[in-house]
Amino acid sequence: MEDFYRELSEELEKLKAQAIYREFRTVENSASQWVVAGGGELLNLCSNNYLGIANHPLLKDASVDAINRYGSGATSSRLIIGNYDLYEEAEREIARFKNTESALLFNSGYVANIGTIAAIIGRGDLVLSDKLNHASIIDGILISRADHIRYRHCDLTNLENHLKHASYKRKMIITDSVFSMDGDLAPLPGLVELKEKYGAILMIDEAHGSGVFGANGRGLAEYYGVSERIDINMGTLGKAFGCAGAYVAGKKVLIDYLKNKARSLIFTTGLPPSTVASINAALKVVRDEGWRRDSVLSKAKLMRDRLGRAGFNTLNSQSQIIPLVIGYDRAALEFSRRLYEENILAPAIRYPAVPKKMARIRLSIMATHQLDDLEWALERIERIGRETGVIG
Ligand code: PMP
Repeated sequence: MEDFYRELSEELEKLKAQAIYREFRTVENSASQWVVAGGGELLNLCSNNYLGIANHPLLKDASVDAINRYGSGATSSRLIIGNYDLYEEAEREIARFKNTESALLFNSGYVANIGTIAAIIGRGDLVLSDKLNHASIIDGILISRADHIRYRHCDLTNLENHLKHASYKRKMIITDSVFSMDGDLAPLPGLVELKEKYGAILMIDEAHGSGVFGANGRGLAEYYGVSERIDINMGTLGKAFGCAGAYVAGKKVLIDYLKNKARSLIFTTGLPPSTVASINAALKVVRDEGWRRDSVLSKAKLMRDRLGRAGFNTLNSQSQIIPLVIGYDRAALEFSRRLYEENILAPAIRYPAVPKKMARIRLSIMATHQLDDLEWALERIERIGRETGVIG
């Protein structure tokens, strides 16, 4: 087996030479806005805990109670024995939250996407996917074996051209709602027009929209007033909801179909009861503490405006995700290292998470960030930007 391990090691050396090698970093308290890592305290500007509720007392208490009542694991697939009333309650509440007939829990956003996409489309079907969609969508499409067109990012004209020439019985359009690495927004009103005009199914991934956008936090579809016109509403529960897992919401027949056909649901152990209990608590917190949505979005706007005025390229971000485009992978790593030295935690996002030469720092804002801390960070980010020549 020596050849095998040598080959692995050579591959890793190549990644290091290209500055795209990845390593875990240990932190002591990732749910907080200040985290302890490497012996120092750093401002957390990279968490998806957008509403700051991952350490909310109601979520923690719900988890602890569920552990005491049910134990630590679901013990099997939900279709065998690992299904408690807790899960059904969560699904009822998610459906209510999303204003859909029904909903289904999955163990993560990644498995929700691969399971759902591969269940809905297959050989002989066509999927039209935004070029910047998340890796889990791309992997779901690959598993499905459907024909695959990647349309230009958020480009409705380009998408319509493809739709016009597509003679497939089943066509599915799929998009992130808030794009995970650019922080910009999918043109959902235009997408629903096109899906209706060309008889396509529309699936949206609200991983970064759910809990944050819309008057009730239902997501970007609510913000644009098009929720009822979307066929498959997927969202995650490990980001704004501070838990883990994901959901798909839609018509009852769709959910019944997924229970029977989504392999990533059928052939896996259910989420731990403690997680599902915290999801139920998070749904209440998201409903009752609307100030968190206003807070994260207004702080994000302040940051975007200031960073843009300072000369950073923040692409077309309109959300709590703010990219600072640096360019080369190595330069982004160096920028992130400089931030770390100044007690700011914001890793470099490199290829293949983003296209080559588009490496960046991805800042994400939390409702619980203090304005003074953000000012403190802005001053440092701008100084490092000037010193490294990223801004003039
Ligand atoms: N979809 C999108 C758009 C995401 O950004 C992510 C996670 N980064 C996922 C799906 C996967 O979600 P999870 O982390 O729950 O697997």
